[in-house]
Amino acid sequence: MIRFENVTKRYRGTSRPALSGVDFEVQRGEFVFLVGASGSGKSSCLRLILREDVPTTGRVAVLGRDLRSLANRKVPYFRRHIGSVFQDFRLLPSKTVYQNVAFTLQVTGSSRGFIQQAVPEALALVGLDGKQKRMPHELSGGEQQRVAIARALVNRPQVLLADEPTGNLDPATSVDIMQLLARINAGGTTVLMATHEAGFVDQMQRRVIELRDGEMVRDEVHGGYGDTSNIPRLAPEEVRGAAAAAALTAVQEVQRQTADLSVVRAALAEELTAQRRAESTAADAVPRASETPEAQAAPIEPQIDEVPVVAPAAVASRTHPIVLPEVDVAELGVADRLGLSDDGTEEVGPTS
Ligand code: ADP
Ligand code: MG
Repeated sequence: MIRFENVTKRYRGTSRPALSGVDFEVQRGEFVFLVGASGSGKSSCLRLILREDVPTTGRVAVLGRDLRSLANRKVPYFRRHIGSVFQDFRLLPSKTVYQNVAFTLQVTGSSRGFIQQAVPEALALVGLDGKQKRMPHELSGGEQQRVAIARALVNRPQVLLADEPTGNLDPATSVDIMQLLARINAGGTTVLMATHEAGFVDQMQRRVIELRDGEMVRDEVHGGYGDTSNIPRLAPEEVRGAAAAAALTAVQEVQRQTADLSVVRAALAEELTAQRRAESTAADAVPRASETPEAQAAPIEPQIDEVPVVAPAAVASRTHPIVLPEVDVAELGVADRLGLSDDGTEEVGPTS
């Protein structure tokens, strides 16, 4: 779906390449974190995928197209298959929420009927129905990012690129956005997210591609920083711990939303019983782990099963994994309508 072949990117007037010999492939339906310190080349990678820029040497192929041979006039059509969101939201300040989401559809010539159906559905998907007439400045940061995500999804892209989408948000709001991206991915959309927030990476246990000074230093299917002692920490311990705890909550929340509730309840009850049993034996000697400040900072050991695209049976348990059933993506409601379900077709927006 996305392939980098020995990609090097040198910007004019710079001595060191921004990307050097980068080589990876992302499959349809994957959720991939692109991590690395500021300046390591994350945004450069995303710009190459969007064909906002071209490699100096090497090859980038996206959705089966070699971007080097993609004619300039075809670039706008190509980009309709790719949604993107950024740290700074990039909404049109003088347009309402509805108009912001409808705007690209209008300029690319979608029918009025399609727009009237797709825009409210995209807004509902991100939890913003009822705020259609608000102006961006009347929204919180998290809500503005949701508008940006709705706008990115309204054209039913196969890939969603997110460049530090939580970079301007507080931890709790970041969790909401992370949760939303996980849900979008559970519906079948390939998600590539650049971030330096290791907490999410630790807890989500998805694939991690790490860049350092433009070079790929890691490509790990079940990534995470928490249990990798020889990798430098990307954030101070407290921040990392708080974000990790928050991300764990997000993962559990996604499960609650997508999995069969009765099974989840039974599994959680079992989990609770096991925890209580463990606590009652250990309670006298040490304070409860969850109450110590160390618990906040310590990496929470996730046992999240890597699962097929439509079955986000993610599991997070300190004691033993809870295995959840496969999820019927149709339960996600409008996801199907928005082309977020993985039905094996190559359906794309009506304007392509
Ligand atoms: P990240 O997103 O990981 O912070 P970037 O991809 O933005 O990293 O930047 C990688 C390197 O390329 C940095 O050294 C940055 O200064 C440089 N760079 C990025 N964009 C340009 C540009 N348009 N012109 C010159 N140098 C650039
Ligand atoms: Mg960047």
